[in-house]
Amino acid sequence: SVAYLNGEFQNLEQATVPVLDRGFLFGDGVYEVIPVYAGKPFRFSSHIKRLHKSLSAILMSFELSESEWLRICEELIAQNELDNASIYLQVTRGSYIDRHHDIPALDTPTVFAMISPLPPVKKDWQVADIKSYSVITEEDIRWQRCDIKAITLLANCMLKQKALESGADDTILVRNNEASEATSSNLFIVRDGVIITPPLSEHLLAGVTREFILALASRHEIPFEERAIPEHELELADEVWLTSSTKEIRPVIRVNGVTIGEGVAGPVWCRMYQYYQELKEQLYLGQ
Ligand code: PLP
Repeated sequence: SVAYLNGEFQNLEQATVPVLDRGFLFGDGVYEVIPVYAGKPFRFSSHIKRLHKSLSAILMSFELSESEWLRICEELIAQNELDNASIYLQVTRGSYIDRHHDIPALDTPTVFAMISPLPPVKKDWQVADIKSYSVITEEDIRWQRCDIKAITLLANCMLKQKALESGADDTILVRNNEASEATSSNLFIVRDGVIITPPLSEHLLAGVTREFILALASRHEIPFEERAIPEHELELADEVWLTSSTKEIRPVIRVNGVTIGEGVAGPVWCRMYQYYQELKEQLYLGQ
């Protein structure tokens, strides 16, 4: 496929960066993943705003404007002829002659973007096709700034692998006995018709999908709360969901081997999924 690297569109397999890049040496960089439906990036401004926040949090002054990022993304969509896709954007601090921990005064960023296909939009809400997850819980071994979308994902990979090795799909992370999020998605539970998600903090990523779901809940007058979720409450919930830009809303049917609710996607999930797809549909129709 065609990718973007430092101002040029080129074949992904041929795109290379220098070994002195601080992304390679220190994991010194940030990223975004943006879904594309019907050829249009979804919730684009929110993703670019979060990218700018991540950049300033790691003390990078580099910024491309939203319209410059959009031009890159539109070019990737057009050149790769993709309608439903996921775009990956990454900015690292770039290459410097010596390997020093000191953060260089001037940024020489490496700016990279690639695109890959996503399964097509399900127009008739084939709920039965949605994969349900089974999850385990584990102590969160990541750092204290999980609000930054940093490229250093080794802990996330190890925690995800633990789930796979125990026959589950993902891991919900626990700090101070509170469940915060999963390895690449935010966490929601439903109890007595109320949607609950942990409040924003440095221990979890401010998910664009999370924010969107809370907006949908407001609009459709489904009660919700942003509050801490003690680990033991997961197994008592009527529904558990994981949300992200590429997974959208995934129902979880087992936590540590305990069946959640009836062991199928719950009624509040079904409503929310429908609202989500309706909005995508409107985007598709250009409304
Ligand atoms: N939490 C983590 C750790 C993530 O990596 C992600 C996305 O990849 C999310 C949450 C969900 O964020 P978003 O909805 O913006 O994709």
